[in-house]
Amino acid sequence: MSADKTRIIIVGSKGRMGEALIRLASKDPKLELVAGVDKEDNVLDYIDRCDVLIEFAHHSLSAELAKTAVERGKALVIGTTGHTDEERQTIATAAQTIPVVFAPNFSVGVNLLFYLTKIAAETLGDEYDEEVVEMHHRLKLDAPSGTARHLGEILADAAGGSYDALTLHGRHGDVGARPKRVIGMHALRGGDVVGDHTVHFSTVGERIELTHRASSRDTFASGALRASSWVRAQQPGLYSMQDVLGLKG
Ligand code: NAD
Repeated sequence: MSADKTRIIIVGSKGRMGEALIRLASKDPKLELVAGVDKEDNVLDYIDRCDVLIEFAHHSLSAELAKTAVERGKALVIGTTGHTDEERQTIATAAQTIPVVFAPNFSVGVNLLFYLTKIAAETLGDEYDEEVVEMHHRLKLDAPSGTARHLGEILADAAGGSYDALTLHGRHGDVGARPKRVIGMHALRGGDVVGDHTVHFSTVGERIELTHRASSRDTFASGALRASSWVRAQQPGLYSMQDVLGLKG
């Protein structure tokens, strides 16, 4: 073992993301893959040998794993989505003691989309109707995607409101005219789509669409591995991928 390598454990190792993470980590000279663990394994068997836990598994696991990381003084990278407010709160509490990167999307392109969405929302203002449309593969378990939710949070923030109060999930039946202060949110599912997101800004006379399409999970996996090297050297705190990329401020 080389002292300057970041030693990682991948939680959810048998999943789609876990497979990509293991494949890329094995080729990265800056990383040492201590173990991949999945449902039948016990992370406690390996945890003392790692610097960072990377979790892409299930939202019901993240809070418990965050408490374990606190007890053992390990940094954490969470890519899982679909958390309840309570689970998010537990992760935020853990981040008072350990450094945590918690990101709904680890791709560089999507983090640029977050940045551009904020600028567009602030520039265009109330006259533009805002709708987020996402599409993912047929096996995805949660909706809307964590990335779509974060885009909604950015739009809500720019409008001076909260995500829960402003978001309208889908439409059906006699819905009437579109209210102004609403963020439309729509989740499409099908085939093997890795992840598409479009933010629509529409007004009378014109519309703008910001779109990102992921064609390989490797883009998320390499971002998460980059975050694992970065987070190891940070003070306790809750960080986003924008912090890792230096896109904030
Ligand atoms: P998947 O269903 O293919 O894999 C999940 C894996 O986690 C499975 O092997 C499963 O057995 C394992 N697992 C479930 N519960 C576990 C537990 N308690 N302990 C250990 N392992 C457990 O899913 P996926 O496509 O790899 O996605 C996983 C998560 O990552 C989802 O929440 C997805 O939305 C999210 N995701 C995030 C990003 C990002 O950039 N942040 C990108 C892609 C996917």
